[in-house]
Amino acid sequence: MSDGAADEQVVMAVDDTRCIGGGQCELLAPDVFEVDDDTGIAAVTAPGLLDRVTALELLDRCPSGAISFAQPAP
Ligand code: SF4
Repeated sequence: MSDGAADEQVVMAVDDTRCIGGGQCELLAPDVFEVDDDTGIAAVTAPGLLDRVTALELLDRCPSGAISFAQPAP
């Protein structure tokens, strides 16, 4: 079952100058985001692909606005 938009994947990005830690991204998408144990700052693990629905929820949950779409998946 594939109806296009719901299955669309996007590439995620984190602005590490805006991230304030807390790890909401890692909780919701542990395969895509990793919070550094020392700095507490999140990073995207390659290739950073996430389905659009989860990605939009993450944009809403990130308290600092550090998460964005890098680009639509190729
Ligand atoms: S949810 Fe946002 S502020 Fe929190 S760790 Fe992830 S990128 Fe940083």
